[in-house]
Amino acid sequence: MRTLLIIIALVIIVMIVKRLWQKPRPPAQSGQQPGKMVQCANCGIYIPEQEALTRGEQRYCSQAHLDEDMRNSS
Ligand SMILES: [Zn+2]
Repeated sequence: MRTLLIIIALVIIVMIVKRLWQKPRPPAQSGQQPGKMVQCANCGIYIPEQEALTRGEQRYCSQAHLDEDMRNSS
C-alpha cells in the first residue's frame, strides 16, 4: 500500500514537472535583435555593441584603436 502511494506521488510530480515544461518560455535571445550602439573611445564612431572590442569600461571599433588607446593611457 505504501508503495502504491509513492507511485501515485511520483506520477503527480511528473505531471507537475511536465506542465511546467510546457509553459510558453520567453523567446530566446537571438543574435539578430537590433543591438545597442556604442561609441569607440578612440575615434568616436558608433558601432554595434556586439562588434565592439571591450577594454574595461571602454569600447573600441577595432583592435588597432584598442591598442593605440592602451599605449596612450599607459
Ligand atoms: Zn575607433
